[in-house]
Amino acid sequence: MRSAVVVGAGVGGLAVAGALARTGWQVTLLERGDRLRGDSAALVIWPNGIRALRALGLGEGLGAIASPAPSRGIRRPNGQWLVQPDAPLVDEDDGPDSSLVVHREDLHDALVAGLGDRIDIRTGIAVRTVRALPGELPAVGDGRHTWEADLVVAADGVDSVVRRRLAPESTAVAAGCAAWRAVIPWYRAPKLPDGAGTGGETLGHGHRFRYALLGERGSAGGSSRGGIYWAATVPGAYRPEPPAAQLVLLRRWFADWHAPITDLLAATEPDDLIQHPTAELRPIPRAFAFPAGPGGFVLLGDAAHAMSHHLGQGACLALEDAATLRSLVLDAIPGRTLGRALEDYTNQRRPRVARIVSQSRRVGAVYAANGNLVVRARNAALGLTPRMLGRAGAVARQWRPPA
Ligand SMILES: Cc1cc2nc3c(=O)[nH]c(=O)nc-3n(C[C@H](O)[C@H](O)[C@H](O)COP(=O)(O)OP(=O)(O)OC[C@H]3O[C@@H](n4cnc5c(N)ncnc54)[C@H](O)[C@@H]3O)c2cc1C
Repeated sequence: MRSAVVVGAGVGGLAVAGALARTGWQVTLLERGDRLRGDSAALVIWPNGIRALRALGLGEGLGAIASPAPSRGIRRPNGQWLVQPDAPLVDEDDGPDSSLVVHREDLHDALVAGLGDRIDIRTGIAVRTVRALPGELPAVGDGRHTWEADLVVAADGVDSVVRRRLAPESTAVAAGCAAWRAVIPWYRAPKLPDGAGTGGETLGHGHRFRYALLGERGSAGGSSRGGIYWAATVPGAYRPEPPAAQLVLLRRWFADWHAPITDLLAATEPDDLIQHPTAELRPIPRAFAFPAGPGGFVLLGDAAHAMSHHLGQGACLALEDAATLRSLVLDAIPGRTLGRALEDYTNQRRPRVARIVSQSRRVGAVYAANGNLVVRARNAALGLTPRMLGRAGAVARQWRPPA
């Protein structure tokens, strides 16, 4: 039987481990954390991510746990429209914008359910060593044990131990901003102003605030984790203060922003707050797969292409990686055709990812605009050519899974 070791049980690792197990691979999943868990924020899953989930056989329950993502207008901090919600952000042939927003723990639960009961799951295992030698099975270890297999998938995030060994040219660099997310459960969520819709996005001087509704107030739906999700980005570095002090800062930075932003921050409790280090890989690795023995190593998700969160595509790309790998290795035979399948993985994924990374940087530069003159120029450009942002998103959302 073909064997695989997957390192890391984030969105990417869970998706690929389940997909390989469901197609006849014997899979061992190694996770550093003491259990498999998602964090309590939310994610926007773009149409490309939805297609990837469907290709992985995981699309079915999505409707029950996901809500429609907000319409795509952008406001100024005083509430005036910078980009009207009905502006043609998307070229006509891009198809409808049917992104969804989902609580991460709900997505995580769905991915864990998709693992089935045939996977050997080892939690509390931090991979530290990598063996990549010609003629030997690829292997990873934690200093005490070694796990070898035909295929080792590194889905161990931005600081991937496996990538550092196989693609040392690629380094994680701070993205120059700090980012927070929170979900305020419905029972203490503030009332939204009339016309708030299902959420929105507001851009200031390097500051950005987005919010989206997870389900409806008073309706349990398919998830018990409904509420209002928000995400805030400010220029600067990761903030070392305790969550209560970070919350004071956030309330100060967004103090005079339009409703319901100040109300959302007022209703947020320190325990709701999740701060994320924001980093991106520079350059992205020269390859996403490395031959070893009869098969080799694959980099997947943030381990391969961590990028700043401005475009909000990281998890969607990890799902695309998983769907692509699943399809390429479906009939691959270790020692015969698996090596070629892994080369194809690099050939299919790397150019696509490189394109999204450059779009994400472009969008990041627009969002990060700071200083009166620059912001005025940025706002004027956005008002005149709203497609500027839409085009970046269109490149991302157009992906189709391999046949
Ligand atoms: C503020 C913010 C908002 C975002 N919003 C969106 C969005 O709306 N939509 C979207 O698509 N993306 C979004 N992203 C990006 C997305 O969160 C990430 O790209 C995605 O979670 C990466 O998933 P992953 O599985 O590749 O890595 P991770 O989620 O980092 O998972 C890595 C796993 O590997 C484990 N691990 C690490 N090292 C080891 C080791 N040595 N041994 C064993 N296990 C190990 C970790 O414990 C973890 O479980 C956002 C990111 C940020 C910061």
